[in-house]
Amino acid sequence: MSTSATDSTPLQALNNIRVVLVNSAHPGNIGGAARALKNMGLSQLYLVQPREFPAANAVWRAAGAAELLDSAVVVETLEEAVADCGLVVATSARERRIPWPLLTPRECGQRAVVEAQTHPVALVFGREDRGLTNEELQACNFHVHIPSNPEYSSLNLATAVQVLVYEARMAALEAEKGGSLSYSDWDRPPAKASDMEMYYEHLQLALAELGFLDPDNPRQTMTRLRRLFSRVRPDDMELGILRGMLTAIQNHIHRTGGQGRPDQGRPDQDRSE
Ligand code: SAH
Repeated sequence: MSTSATDSTPLQALNNIRVVLVNSAHPGNIGGAARALKNMGLSQLYLVQPREFPAANAVWRAAGAAELLDSAVVVETLEEAVADCGLVVATSARERRIPWPLLTPRECGQRAVVEAQTHPVALVFGREDRGLTNEELQACNFHVHIPSNPEYSSLNLATAVQVLVYEARMAALEAEKGGSLSYSDWDRPPAKASDMEMYYEHLQLALAELGFLDPDNPRQTMTRLRRLFSRVRPDDMELGILRGMLTAIQNHIHRTGGQGRPDQGRPDQDRSE
């Protein structure tokens, strides 16, 4: 679905930014989001288990953007929706318990446009009633919060989509004027979301085999490790090296037939969750 955007202009790169709606309850919001995308020059809508879709109300709210509903990609999990993305940004109406790298909507627009010139980017939106789960938020590189009235901070879903895709369009127009905004001089593409997920599984397994991770309570440590690697954003080759290291550690454990001492070096479990 995604364009290979290697040499794309900032405005073309908007087609490489997908909007992912997780578990939307109201088809009107899906239609409203489709309209917002087309108004701002984006075209990719992904729906993770929409509660009601296709729906007449979605078509009605989409107005002249109904073709985006026809081409919308419906998937079962957020993981599938972002698997090939190099940058995944989650939106949140609230502050979270574990702070995560944050972007303002403006920074989000700029970063999304710059990166979409080389790899697919996802902007992820949550359920109308309860947003995204902690697990879904932790599957993303950055969080973005629209700095609304703290006493009434939650925007309508389609309105929140409108704000972020507007920022992406403004960033693209700005970049078109200013000329050369390229991703960076980096020599490798960032690791894809699906490869990061496989890495976390591998890491958890190896750390458990090593006796470092409490297999009954891996959650807190894994959350913090996820946040660490989210911040670092390894490229594909760095991730390959990390996986190779884990395999070497596992081979060593299997060869010596031993487990690490479970009481050594294990981090204090954070009881707050
Ligand atoms: N009661 C929910 C609100 C969800 S609003 C909660 O507290 O999380 C539905 C979705 O709209 C959110 O998941 C988010 O994707 C988006 N949204 C609403 N207000 C937002 C804001 N101020 N900043 C960023 N995203 C917002």
